[in-house]
Amino acid sequence: MTSREDSLFGRIAIDLGLVKEDQLREALAEQARSDRARLLGAILVEKGHITEEGLRQILLAQREKLAPLKSGRERRQEDASFGAIAVKEGHIANEDLDRALVEQFRLAKRGLFLKVGEILVKNRKMTEDQVLAVLRVQQNRFVTCPGCGSRYRVLEGKPGLVVPCKKCGKEIELGK
Ligand SMILES: [Zn+2]
Repeated sequence: MTSREDSLFGRIAIDLGLVKEDQLREALAEQARSDRARLLGAILVEKGHITEEGLRQILLAQREKLAPLKSGRERRQEDASFGAIAVKEGHIANEDLDRALVEQFRLAKRGLFLKVGEILVKNRKMTEDQVLAVLRVQQNRFVTCPGCGSRYRVLEGKPGLVVPCKKCGKEIELGK
């Protein structure tokens, strides 16, 4: 578990009222002292500060918060559709998009994650208004799962198509 996830874990535990500040500090100190990698949640359970049920609640809330940060594949899909729309609507040329994607890849290797739209604005290939216009077109092509917030592409020309969410199983209308 990274320290970023640990601090999110701790914040959620406190927000949910499942752990007190001093209990969390004590567990973090113990985690830092330990010579093997230990999960913060496991330490809190072991010390009797939270129950297994409490741990489950925190992990669920944490997964929801981390989901948008972690789904790199969804992000790439959205970027690809953003680029396709931007080209189709005549805001940029194919070469502009290719260059932006190469730059995006280079930046990502250095740990800097920019959306393709942000890179295009940075390089003055698009204005912010143009980006917003593309995002509006794009919004209509995705639906958000009401159960878990996962995003799915709308399949045009398939009216009434309903499929279960791959993550949570809730039914989503994908046809337009
Ligand atoms: Zn879902």
